[in-house]
Order: sequence, then structure tokens, then C-alpha cells
Amino acid sequence: MSPETDNRRLVAEQLRIWSRCGLTHLPRPRPAPRTEESPPVPVADNPPPADETPAVPASPSAPWADLNACREDALACTRCALAETRQKVVFGDGDEAAELMFVGEAPGAEEDRRGQPFVGRAGKLLDKMIDAMGLARERVYIANVLKCRPPGNRDPLPDEVTACRPFLDYQIDVIRPKIICCLGRHAAMRMLDTDSSLKNLRGRFHDHNERTRIAVTYHPAYCLRNPAAKRDVWEDLQLIMAELGLQPRD
Ligand code: SF4
Repeated sequence: MSPETDNRRLVAEQLRIWSRCGLTHLPRPRPAPRTEESPPVPVADNPPPADETPAVPASPSAPWADLNACREDALACTRCALAETRQKVVFGDGDEAAELMFVGEAPGAEEDRRGQPFVGRAGKLLDKMIDAMGLARERVYIANVLKCRPPGNRDPLPDEVTACRPFLDYQIDVIRPKIICCLGRHAAMRMLDTDSSLKNLRGRFHDHNERTRIAVTYHPAYCLRNPAAKRDVWEDLQLIMAELGLQPRD
């Protein structure tokens, strides 16, 4: 007789003895107490197969670790058709702790070529405006609604604005400016979710959240075509200066 058969015979005999003694069932064995040497291993209810482990979401709505990671994502972005016609992605640049952030519409030809925001003729005028406010360009942050140039400088399309939205949202979340100055109607439409005219929106602040307020003024490119608008822009900038405690450059 094998040892296994012998063990079974002994167990059966023991059960018959307990049965004759009136024992109808046996208690469940208790789990062995946990020890330091054998810590419990957490097990998910429905663990995915190893080859289906969820990856980091590729959606632009996913949070990035920091602004640099966001920039890297944007530089490789193909989320809208502008990726096919751009030369360079223009992510935005400036002081990441800026109290004042300018938001324009989209890169132009020179920005597309150099990968930097507001470096063409309109950019030079913006530099003068910033200087007149008693600031340096390095102390503000400058970005656009779209990070890639629409062909022929046409207006941004709604699906392009939607696709690019998470990048600008994240820039604002990280920088947390006190004031966002929208340059032109498309930036105002995007930030204020309105199709009201720029004339109706400028000259006052609009609440964004508990820290940030939004001002609206004309785009520098518009001022180049309509120099009379510069006076309105200066009025809008003075509102911002008063809010930030800035003194105009002598
Ligand atoms: S415009 Fe924005 S969403 Fe479209 S390809 Fe460029 S970075 Fe991506």
C-alpha cells in the first residue's frame, strides 16, 4: 500500500470515529497569521493581463509633469491638420512666474519660421507696449491660442482651437498669472467663450478664476493697420498697469 493510500485510510477511519461521536461537520481552517517576512500582496479585483496594462493617456487633456513636458508634447503634436503645414510649433515663452500673460491668436509667418511667439512686425510693437508698461519682455509670458500657423494666416477653425485647447489651459494653470491680456478677437473668444465684439469686451476686466482676471485689447497687427487703435490699446494697458502696480517707462 502506498503512503498516500495509507493516509486516506487513516483519515477515513478518523472521520468514522468522529461521526459515531456525533460530530456532523468540521470547522474551516483559519488563515495563517501574517508575518513580517510575508507581507500581504495587494491584488486588484480584475487585474488586466500584463500586455493590457493601461498606458499613460496620450490625450492632450492628460496632465503633464511640468511645462517642459507639455512643451515637448506640443512640439511633436499632430492633433490637428495644422501639423501638416507648419514649419515649427510655437509653444510660447517667457517668465513661468509672470503676473502678466499675453495670449494672441496664432503664429504668423516669422513665428512659424523661428518657433517663437510674436517675433515679427507685430511682435516688435508688442515689445514696445511691454516696455512702455515699465516691464521687460522676459518678465511676462507670451502664448497663442494655436501653437501652429494656419496657412495664409487665416482665422483659426473651431476644431483646431478645440484640439489645441489643453496646451494653453495647462500653460495658464502652471503660470497662474494675475492678468491675462487677450490680444485680438480670437484670443478673447477663446478665453471668454463669447462671440461678442472686441469693442464690447475691452476697457474692463473679466473674471477667470479666483486668482486670474482677463483683459482684452486689440492685436498689435491690427494696430499696425489702424494706428488710431494704439490709443485704445494704451488705455487698456493702463488698466492692467494700475492693477499690477506698474509705473509707465519714462
Ligand atoms: S495647432 Fe495645436 S493641436 Fe494643432 S497640431 Fe499644432 S499643437 Fe497640435
